[in-house]
Amino acid sequence: MTRCLDCGSERTTDQCTSCGLTTAAAELTFRRRLMRQTGIFLLGSLAFPYISQIYPPLDLDWILVFFGLIFFGALTLAVVLERRARNHQEIELMKRAYNGFIPLPWILAATLFINGRLDAQKNVVYYPTAVEARFNMKGIVKGSRRLVVRSWREGERVERLAVDMDDYDRFHEGDPIVVGVEPGALGIPWYYGVYRR
Ligand SMILES: [Zn+2]
Repeated sequence: MTRCLDCGSERTTDQCTSCGLTTAAAELTFRRRLMRQTGIFLLGSLAFPYISQIYPPLDLDWILVFFGLIFFGALTLAVVLERRARNHQEIELMKRAYNGFIPLPWILAATLFINGRLDAQKNVVYYPTAVEARFNMKGIVKGSRRLVVRSWREGERVERLAVDMDDYDRFHEGDPIVVGVEPGALGIPWYYGVYRR
């Protein structure tokens, strides 16, 4: 049994009885949509790291691992889908899986944005701590600079704060600092600022 690449209906003749497209036309339509969806996905993948630098969650590194899985998972699917469509192979399930991936970076970005944007400045709590280490991760996400500080949270030994370039250069190992933390409108704690004690 073959299915129309575009609408997914079962097809016995070259022309799909459901959408009217021929095999070649359905392939073209599908590949155009795949490109458009991939574009939307990539835009979201740029928005997410951008927002995560404006309202950086304390547990950003775990969220970045999750985001990385989404990113490479989706791009792998896109490549496989493209190849299977070209060979006119079955793609229905994979197509649905891919549709599910498209909004994920946007949902992550919107969550962090709402979490930070709707948080009131009066909620900032300041924790005294000290810088234990710093490192600059060169990777996919531009400017992944971390200040590793002693944690004030129970069960956590250190916090890895995603700081900007200025704060990264300003502080050094052993510096006593104060970290301003907001609880987050959606309950995701994020750090508001880091100051010298
Ligand atoms: Zn069709």
